[in-house]
Amino acid sequence: MKLDYDYIIVGSGFGGSVSTLCLSQKGYRALVVEKGKWYKSKDFAKTNWNFVKWLWMPELRPFGIMKMTYVRH
Ligand SMILES: Cc1cc2nc3c(=O)[nH]c(=O)nc-3n(C[C@H](O)[C@H](O)[C@H](O)COP(=O)(O)OP(=O)(O)OC[C@H]3O[C@@H](n4cnc5c(N)ncnc54)[C@H](O)[C@@H]3O)c2cc1C
Repeated sequence: MKLDYDYIIVGSGFGGSVSTLCLSQKGYRALVVEKGKWYKSKDFAKTNWNFVKWLWMPELRPFGIMKMTYVRH
């Protein structure tokens, strides 16, 4: 497989998607790599009371979009 890109963007989040759009609008070939899951509309929780669809806590099985990291204090 031959990869021929001007830019490789790591992550399709806010920064990555906007950067990719701007680069491709200027005519550059950009590749986006994303480690996250592919979400469809039905995968999003309508309310955050739906913990299973809202929280990202794979060790307990919820695979939602919200990851919480607890810090000291
Ligand atoms: C609940 C919540 C509400 C928010 N509301 C607002 C709001 O109303 N207005 C606002 O301006 N901001 C809001 N923010 C903040 C905003 O979402 C972030 O500031 C913004 O998304 C940061 O952009 P980013 O590109 O740095 O990271 P992200 O958008 O987090 O993107 C990073 C991407 O990189 C991927 N990634 C990470 N590591 C790798 C790897 N090794 N390989 C491949 N892919 C990788 C991740 O899976 C992710 O998709 C909110 C944030 C949260 C959590």
